[in-house]
Amino acid sequence: MKTAAHERLQSPLRRRHARQVFAFTALLAVCALCGISAPQFSRAQAAPSTGQLRIYSIDVEGGQSTLLVAPSGESLLVDTGWPGNNGRDAERILAAMHDAGIKRIDHVLITHFHTDHVGGVPELIAKIEVGEFLDHGENREDAADTRNNYAIYVKAIAGHQRRIVHPGDTIPIDGLSVVVLTADGEHIGAVPGITPTPNPWCASEHAWADDPTENSRSAGILVTFGKFKFLDLGDLTGKKEVALVCPNNPIGTIDLYLVTHHGMDWSNSRAIVNAVHPRVAIMNNGAHKAGKPEAWQIVHDSPGLIDLWQLHTAEDADAAHNSPEGLIANPKGDGDGHAMTVVALPDGSFSVTNTRTGQTKQYPRN
Ligand SMILES: [Zn+2]
Repeated sequence: MKTAAHERLQSPLRRRHARQVFAFTALLAVCALCGISAPQFSRAQAAPSTGQLRIYSIDVEGGQSTLLVAPSGESLLVDTGWPGNNGRDAERILAAMHDAGIKRIDHVLITHFHTDHVGGVPELIAKIEVGEFLDHGENREDAADTRNNYAIYVKAIAGHQRRIVHPGDTIPIDGLSVVVLTADGEHIGAVPGITPTPNPWCASEHAWADDPTENSRSAGILVTFGKFKFLDLGDLTGKKEVALVCPNNPIGTIDLYLVTHHGMDWSNSRAIVNAVHPRVAIMNNGAHKAGKPEAWQIVHDSPGLIDLWQLHTAEDADAAHNSPEGLIANPKGDGDGHAMTVVALPDGSFSVTNTRTGQTKQYPRN
């Protein structure tokens, strides 16, 4: 049965599809190299095992929920969004799963124990089967809300498989390499297959304050699919970012960057953003959550960046610190719940689709 969230994700696309087909066909006829193609968010292309890695940046209104589906259909969900709102975030995750053609999630990685990441676990596992939960180990933040989040999480996943991850661990998914870079405040020194190189952006980086919150404990991952690389560091904050990439950068360069901490300005140091040199970034901000102008500018100005996509208009920032509307899934005044979907190929090429507009932009291989 289709869910309300599924309808929200799909119906605007279907409504728009008919009128867009003609326009896009005409466009493609005259613009074969312009990088825009017809909508790809359709049943026909949704089945797994098509040789594609699919990544859904699901709108959980300023939290994180990122679904990765390997060509084999094996899946990894990074974080689960918020609790409450009548199960809104679980429904949105289910809609993405439906689009991807999967019925269970093999691995759920909880980056840290803040509500906007772990809060959705009970509602999610009431609806779907999960293979294993992964997290950085016990809560480290001395705050009542976070202690409560952790207690609810541990209770909710009782009876499920749980694995504590450490830097250097891998998450086994057929066809992908998923390496844990950071966890519980520690970080990796070298990623297998990548030679760490001196990071020229360290010398000019300013000092960052200690962060005693769970953010600094975030479990962060590097996902490699052939030549395509995706970086998701949860809400890792500046001091730990700099520790990860200075003086040597163990990550190398990436294709797609999930803007750390929803675009908060106590994350996204220039030393890490410039060093990993993303081609495309997706910022999972909310309308009034994160999306800070200083962080937006650093990502926007990163050498090599082609596009900065946003899940929402950052309504507390000015127009100069928001991307063009076509790159925003949920612009001010146009509802919410729309996602970004990424389809990557092993040659390093990929596309990003804004599910609100149905428009897809292609990024050729390097
Ligand atoms: Zn967060």
